[in-house]
Amino acid sequence: MPPLNDDAIVLRTSDFSETSMVVTFFTRESGKITCLAKGARRLKNPFDTAFDAMNVCRILYYPKSGDVLQLVTEAKLTERFRVDSTVAIYAGFHVVQLLNHFTENFSPQTALFDLTKIILNDILSLDPICRSASLEDPPEKLSRCLLHYELRLLQLVGVAPSLRECVECGEKIEVRRGARRAAFGMREGGVLCPRCRPGKTRVVSLSPEALGALQLLASPEERFWKRLQLSQKTLGEIRGVWNQYLAHQMERPVPIFQWLKR
Ligand SMILES: [Zn+2]
Repeated sequence: MPPLNDDAIVLRTSDFSETSMVVTFFTRESGKITCLAKGARRLKNPFDTAFDAMNVCRILYYPKSGDVLQLVTEAKLTERFRVDSTVAIYAGFHVVQLLNHFTENFSPQTALFDLTKIILNDILSLDPICRSASLEDPPEKLSRCLLHYELRLLQLVGVAPSLRECVECGEKIEVRRGARRAAFGMREGGVLCPRCRPGKTRVVSLSPEALGALQLLASPEERFWKRLQLSQKTLGEIRGVWNQYLAHQMERPVPIFQWLKR
């Protein structure tokens, strides 16, 4: 097969031999691919120091059908993920780890590629305010940005929870101020109306403020989620429920969430 050019986000790398490396990319046109990069560990190599996680590059690779490893022969760095704060680095790793977990090889997802690129840029731009923050207390803007990414990622891979209508019967769930707390079924994957709630296990409750915020954070439109400002209380409540849901979807505890208490 002829070689292909593609834009690619670096998800992870590992050493393969003394001179070579295995790189997992999320490409715009072909989705996730894993490539052998011969000579990438040599001082002089054709890869333009592009292979650090979260970097975006333009690659040339030879697709090999039936093979797990593709062969990447060229890479040109287009966007370097360079940040100073530990909080921003963790946030970047969090994004690529989730993307790696929820995607399959050769399953193209252009919208997911574009979204991830935007979010990595958002994290870069938040680096200055992350410098004075700690892992236990990340800036509100960053928490919001990551929640938006997580919600949209799950939408795009088809495992998003139902946040507006009862997941069982489709009845609309009220989020106006003063409305009662809504039941959220982890197993059912979304909110439950009072009629469908009885008898369900692993159900948590959400305040109307937290549910309303989750609905806006899940919106693809920037004007909805970027203009929000969430109190510590609401963020803490959202994280409490949302981390459980994500861990449930991932079928294992998510170590990186330990620092994302809010
Ligand atoms: Zn119902």
